[in-house]
Amino acid sequence: MKTIALVAHDQKKDALVAWAKAHEAELGPHRLYATGTTGGRLQKETALDVTPLKSGPLGGDAQLGAMIAEDNLDALIFFIDPLSAMPHDVDVKSLIRLAILYDTLMAVNEATATGIIRSLAD
Ligand code: PGA
Repeated sequence: MKTIALVAHDQKKDALVAWAKAHEAELGPHRLYATGTTGGRLQKETALDVTPLKSGPLGGDAQLGAMIAEDNLDALIFFIDPLSAMPHDVDVKSLIRLAILYDTLMAVNEATATGIIRSLAD
């Protein structure tokens, strides 16, 4: 069992929920965390057991960064909106930076997310 975080910016939440539904069977056995709003949607719209953290702009991304730094996160699925400015852009950058620094599995688009979840099932 791995610990996986799911995060989606607002314009990408529909896509992440649809992706999570399509991969429910593969995600189900893992320990799942999500930023607040993303987690709320996943709890409501999928059968997955997801632990929600704070909303991204209120520190959720920072919480995930801390999990990475403490070696408590195996994979980050992060559906980033490439077309909108974010009030918490520094937190987003920090999270990505820490995932790179600690060599954490990280997907920032659907194709790579699918590759990661398949690789974790092997
Ligand atoms: P949210 O946070 O799931 O609470 O919207 C995601 C983000 O903006 O990083």
